[in-house]
Amino acid sequence: MQLATPSSETLTQPDSDLDSTDPRDCAHIVDQRDPANDVTAAVVEGREVTALCGYRWIPYRQPQGRPVCETCVEVYGRIQSGG
Ligand SMILES: [Zn+2]
Repeated sequence: MQLATPSSETLTQPDSDLDSTDPRDCAHIVDQRDPANDVTAAVVEGREVTALCGYRWIPYRQPQGRPVCETCVEVYGRIQSGG
């Protein structure tokens, strides 16, 4: 039996319409081993990069002072541990 409780805990679904932190306000992590995710080139050329969490956006500057996307951190940790 599974209980369904109303909760505002972080969901794993990439739904940008939730009332949680907007992904556009987060600092995402990109896999820089993929040349398509070269943030510097993306800024210059105005094209999208894909974050580890799957979020796609056009980077424009260093995301200083923003909360780091928790999903990205999770995926990044898996990569660092050899996954
Ligand atoms: Zn992310």
